[in-house]
Amino acid sequence: MLQITRSEQVSGANPLYTPEQLGWLKKARAFADKLTLEDILASDKENAFRRDLFELSCQEGFGALPFKAGFGGSGGDYVSFSLLNEEFAKRCVPIMSSLGVHILCQEPIYRFGTDAQKSRYLPLAAQGKYLGAFGLTEPAAGSDTAAIETSAHLKGDHYVLNGTKTFITSGASADFYIVMARVTDLAGETGEAIGITSFIVERDFPGFEIGQKFDMLGMRGYATCEIVFNDCHVPKENLLGNLGEGRKVALSSLAKGRVTIAAQATGWGQGALDAAVHVFKKRISENRSRRQEYAQFEPLLGKMQVELEAARALTYQAAFSIDCGTSDINLASMAKLKATDTAMDIATQAISLLGEDGLNPDLLLERIFRDAKAGQIYEGTNQIQRMLIARNLLK
Ligand SMILES: Cc1cc2nc3c(=O)[nH]c(=O)nc-3n(C[C@H](O)[C@H](O)[C@H](O)COP(=O)(O)OP(=O)(O)OC[C@H]3O[C@@H](n4cnc5c(N)ncnc54)[C@H](O)[C@@H]3O)c2cc1C
Repeated sequence: MLQITRSEQVSGANPLYTPEQLGWLKKARAFADKLTLEDILASDKENAFRRDLFELSCQEGFGALPFKAGFGGSGGDYVSFSLLNEEFAKRCVPIMSSLGVHILCQEPIYRFGTDAQKSRYLPLAAQGKYLGAFGLTEPAAGSDTAAIETSAHLKGDHYVLNGTKTFITSGASADFYIVMARVTDLAGETGEAIGITSFIVERDFPGFEIGQKFDMLGMRGYATCEIVFNDCHVPKENLLGNLGEGRKVALSSLAKGRVTIAAQATGWGQGALDAAVHVFKKRISENRSRRQEYAQFEPLLGKMQVELEAARALTYQAAFSIDCGTSDINLASMAKLKATDTAMDIATQAISLLGEDGLNPDLLLERIFRDAKAGQIYEGTNQIQRMLIARNLLK
């Protein structure tokens, strides 16, 4: 199998990062180094989630990397988590997306959870014994989250949930789910509309079911599926945050999640550029007489590098702002938009540049092309990000 040299874009001597942050990067690299190309290709081909790898990654502290110690947090930060995501995406480490969603699910428990919820879920999540998934999207409510139809009403000491969530990353393998549902009738009598509310739902709760599993173009191997609530009984104490404030809970998580996607996309862009450079250098060394012909493509490679560095700068600016406590959803939107569009552009142009070599699965370039396309869609499509950024300008 073809093994290519991956650039070490963030060098050990980079003054932008602290020794602790570079320590997490080193651990991420060491983890990825243990995977063979066969491992990486198989999860994509078989569309199979590697729970074993996820658990191993939690033993390294990755499962709670950006959280403070206390409930199992690893004491890192979002810059470190971004470095890990960039590294994992560059090399298509098969658990990357589930790890990102796992952090996304712990975030609202840290921020809005009761002490009992923190004690119950966070240590198990950090250890990798509980995998989290995030249930927002529905068949008729994607970009427009206000259209959520999954319902919840209080009945004695529990809420009863009904509805379907779709395209849920880790859905078929998770143990707990952050779920947004519309509480329509609190007392079961008045019909009073309370609004969208967040719940923590466990896989074993009565009435919880796994629905259709998806065999997608990109982001394969992440147990992505529908989850179905069929008179699902959720204990009252599993309400997360305040009644009617579910969108606030979701948005505060997504503000950080979009930075995670931006870091992943920066890694995809780097991986695609690395593949193009690798093949190009090989062609030049093997066909010296065609050096002039190849030279016409050099400006394109240069442009890719500059666009990638711009995406990287925006991504780490957004990650740094989270770590400073000034998390800014507008900056997160810009980073997600720029990095995923850049990754898609670089992957597309690199495949065109390399011709049939670009489609060789061993290069991971066609895989990055498929994953980057999905990256432009999830956690808010890039069309929606553009609209949100404009609205922020005009408000
Ligand atoms: C790989 C993958 C993993 C995912 N994982 C999760 C997950 O873990 N949890 C979860 O809850 N969801 C998940 N999703 C769902 C994802 O968040 C949605 O796909 C996304 O929000 C878009 O919703 P939609 O697919 O229904 O598209 P739609 O909202 O139907 O949009 C269709 C098209 O119309 C455009 N559009 C829609 N409204 C507007 C508008 N007002 N202005 C301009 N253009 C507009 C969109 O940009 C898009 O191009 C995942 C999706 C994918 C592909």
